[in-house]
Amino acid sequence: MATTSTVKEASKSDSPQARSFDALVVGAGFSGLYQLLCLRDRLGLSVQVLEAGGGVGGTWYWNRYPGARCDSESHSYCYSFSDELTKEWEWSERYPGPPEILRYLNYVADRFDLKRNIRFNTRVSSAHYDEAANLWRVNTDAGEALTAQFLITAVGCLSSANIPNISGIDTFNGRWYHTGEWPHEGVDFSGKRVGLIGTGSTGIQAAPVIAETAAHLTVFQRTANYSVPARNAPLTPEFKRYVKENAAEIRQVMQSTVNGHPFTIADRSALETPPEERQAIYEAAWEIGSLRFRAAFRDLLTDKAANDTAADFIRAKIREIVKDPATAAKLSDFDHPYAAKRPPIDTDYFETFNRDNVKLVDVRAAPIEEITPQGIRTRDAEYPLDIIVFATGFDGMTGSLLRMDIRGRDGLPLTKAWAAGPRNYLGLQVAGFPNLFTVTGPGSPSVLCNMPVAIEQHVEWITDCIAYMREHGLTRIEPKNEAVDAWVAEVNVAAEATLLPLAKHSWYLGANVPGKPRVFMPYAGGMAHYRKICADVATKDYEGFTFSG
Ligand code: NAP
Repeated sequence: MATTSTVKEASKSDSPQARSFDALVVGAGFSGLYQLLCLRDRLGLSVQVLEAGGGVGGTWYWNRYPGARCDSESHSYCYSFSDELTKEWEWSERYPGPPEILRYLNYVADRFDLKRNIRFNTRVSSAHYDEAANLWRVNTDAGEALTAQFLITAVGCLSSANIPNISGIDTFNGRWYHTGEWPHEGVDFSGKRVGLIGTGSTGIQAAPVIAETAAHLTVFQRTANYSVPARNAPLTPEFKRYVKENAAEIRQVMQSTVNGHPFTIADRSALETPPEERQAIYEAAWEIGSLRFRAAFRDLLTDKAANDTAADFIRAKIREIVKDPATAAKLSDFDHPYAAKRPPIDTDYFETFNRDNVKLVDVRAAPIEEITPQGIRTRDAEYPLDIIVFATGFDGMTGSLLRMDIRGRDGLPLTKAWAAGPRNYLGLQVAGFPNLFTVTGPGSPSVLCNMPVAIEQHVEWITDCIAYMREHGLTRIEPKNEAVDAWVAEVNVAAEATLLPLAKHSWYLGANVPGKPRVFMPYAGGMAHYRKICADVATKDYEGFTFSG
C-alpha cells in the first residue's frame, strides 16, 4: 500500500516547537488503527496516533481480568475492509479472549505497518482549538506539544474506569483492583478471600473464574442481572471454512442488521407466538447461547409484555440451575426488562453459586457502608477479605472525552458544552469544536452495535469527509447548531421507541456515575438505519455541517 506520509515536522520532541501533522488520532484500538490506515494510506495525510497504553488494543489492552472474553462472535469481531486480511486471519474460538484479540490487532498493525505512526505510553493531557491558526494544539503528559488540522478521538466507549467512592478504601489491608485496569502479570487468587463488587457483563464473566482458584468468593450484587449461556467452544474446521467461503455474505448481513451482528432478528412476535411454541423457541435459543437469544423475537426490546416472556424464561432457568432458592430469588429479582441493560452472556455464572466457596450478598437490601482494614462492611455484616475486585464498570461514552481537557472555539471546554449531557451531530462532531471528530461518540449506535461494524462505518465516513474537504479546498468543518438540536432530539426519540430507558441504573443513561447527567447516550435507531442517515448527509454535500476555508 502506498504511503505519502509527510510529517511537516520539524522539531524533535524535546523542542518547545510543536510537531505538526495533518491529523492526530487519540487511541490505538480498533478505531485508531483503522483511522490511521485510512488517513495515511488512502488520503496520504501525515498522521500521528497517541496511545496511553504500551501497545495496540485499546479496551483489550487494559481489560485482562479473569474470564474476559468478547461477547461478539469472533468471525464478526474483526475488520472487514480487507479481503486479504479476512482470508489470512483465523480465529480459534467462538468468542475471542484478550490474548487472541491482541494478537489479531498486532497482526493488523504489523501487516499494514501502522506502529511507526503510533506513539505508545503517551496520554493526551489537553487538546485546545486555535481558531486563528485553524489548528488543534495537543499536549501530552510527557510535556510534548503537537498540532494538527484534524483531531480524531478513537478513545473507545468504555475506557474510563468507574471506581465507586466508598469510604475507607485507603485503609484496606488487602489488595484491590478494577477490572478495566487489570495488572498485566495477573492476580493470584489462590488461598485468598475475594470480594467481587458488580454483576454487569464483567462481574458475570469474572466470578466463575475467580471462584475456581480463590479460597472464597463473595459476590456483592446491587442489581440482579439477566444472563444467557455463551456456549463458547473451539471453532470447527467446517465453521472456519464457512467463514472464509462466505465472507461477503456475512459482511452483508452484519451491515444490514440493527446490531451489526452476523445474524438477523427473527421476524416473529413473542406475544403472537403460542406459549408452547414460544417456550420451544426460547429453549432452542438458550442452547445456542450468545446474543442470538435476544434475536429470538422481534418485539423483545419494544414491547414490555413481550419482554416479560423472555424475563420469565430466564428467571425460571436461574431457579432451575441455582440450588439454594433464596440465592436464586436474589439472582432473579430483576428491576429492568431483559436486554434494557447490555445483556451479558456467561460461562457457568449461575452454576457458580452452587459452589461451597461462593456467597451472594444483596447490597441493594443492605448497602455497602464502608471498606474497613479487614474487608467490606454492609449495613448488616462485615465480610473479611484479602482482595477486592471492582467490576463496577466505566464512565461510559463521555468519560474519556471529558477527561482529556478538550476546548473548542473561544476556549470553550467540552465539559461545559456537555454539562447537561452530550450534544453533537450524528455522534461525530460537536458545534464549536471545528475539525474534531469523535469515532463512535455518544449519539451514534456504538455500544448498541457490534463495535467493529460501527467503527468501520465511522472511520470511513470521517475519511470520506476529509477527502471531500481537500477536494473542495475546505479547511474547516463543524455542525450547525440546529443540526445538533435535531440530532439530540432524534437520539431521544429513538431511545423512547425502545424499552432501553426503563433500565434506570444503566450506564447507557450515565446513571452509574454520581453526578453524571441522565441522558440516554447511544443512538438506538439501529446501525443500518444510522448508516443510511450518514450516507444521505454526505450525499447532500454534508447537510447540517458548515465548511470554511
Ligand atoms: P456495568 O455493566 O456498568 O456493571 C457494573 C456493575 O457494578 C453493576 O452491577 C453495578 O450495579 C455495580 N456497581 C457499580 N457501582 C457499585 C457500587 N457502588 N456498589 C455496588 N455495586 C456497584 O460494567 P461492566 O460489567 O464492566 O460492563 C460495562 C460494559 O462493558 C458492558 O455493558 C459491555 O458493553 C462491556 N463489556 C463487554 C464484555 C464482552 O464483550 N463480553 C465484557 C465485559 C464488559 P448497578 O447495576 O446497580 O449499577
